[in-house]
Amino acid sequence: MNTGADEPLLAFRITVPAGAEDDACAVLWDRGTRGVQVDPGAGGTVVLLAYFSEAAVTPDLTSDLGLLGTVEPTAIPDVDWVARFRESFHAFDVGGFRVVPVWEPAPRHARTLVVDPGRAFGTGTHESTALCLETLEEIAREQALGRTLDLGAGTGILAIAAVRLGAAPVVALDIDPESTQAVVEHARRNDAPVHAVRGDGARALRGLFDTLLANLTCPLLCEQAATIRERMGTGSRLVTSGFLDEDLPEVEAAFASAALARTRRRNGWTCAVFTT
Ligand code: SAH
Repeated sequence: MNTGADEPLLAFRITVPAGAEDDACAVLWDRGTRGVQVDPGAGGTVVLLAYFSEAAVTPDLTSDLGLLGTVEPTAIPDVDWVARFRESFHAFDVGGFRVVPVWEPAPRHARTLVVDPGRAFGTGTHESTALCLETLEEIAREQALGRTLDLGAGTGILAIAAVRLGAAPVVALDIDPESTQAVVEHARRNDAPVHAVRGDGARALRGLFDTLLANLTCPLLCEQAATIRERMGTGSRLVTSGFLDEDLPEVEAAFASAALARTRRRNGWTCAVFTT
């Protein structure tokens, strides 16, 4: 649920006919709800538990809610969202890696990636991250990863995976200060020498990289293509993801001066490797 830091919230229990659930939810979002929980009700109804910031609860809002169905103000359930999330996030395997959340004991496994899910993206659960991890592993079986750049590092999960696969030195760059902080923290927890850099794209970097990882979006990849390409020498490889299958031609066009060497796909997401 998207709540502001310590924003005081009020909750309403609204009972509507099951068939009206979608329309009622649309109205709730339109009126600024902070989150809706849907539970089955009695006799073909559903119960919508809708949260609103205290400031948003005006007489107009309550009369609008009354048009949807039976409304009762209700106490906010005392839910520990962090504990709820932790219960749902357990260690899992992706390729030959074992991703372990910080609150579970890390096994003595050479390819363990300890993650602390927080504000930075990159726990390995997203298809694009998983595809990059598997592709990186496949590449490392064939050649040394060498000097490696993780562009748009998030938590730094790909950079740490590269270290596990023998890459050195490894630079993890992100535009978001929270990510750079997360990279430092993850590098420490994983005992992985990763150099965290804050910057907008690869333009701030010098020198060439043998392996480059860029799990960005299609527009970002296209925007950053020229500066990424400048950091690739002869024989470099670039692992890209974060875009949908149908966007591959656009990404390929952006990296037209490199060759599309392989692709890997899952649930509509593509990972493409370009070589120079
Ligand atoms: N590498 C991680 C995270 C990918 S999310 C993984 O594979 O799971 C993409 C990241 O790119 C975000 O952390 C975002 O802050 C970063 N990013 C977006 N635009 C950027 C830019 N112009 N320069 C550097 N990083 C950028």
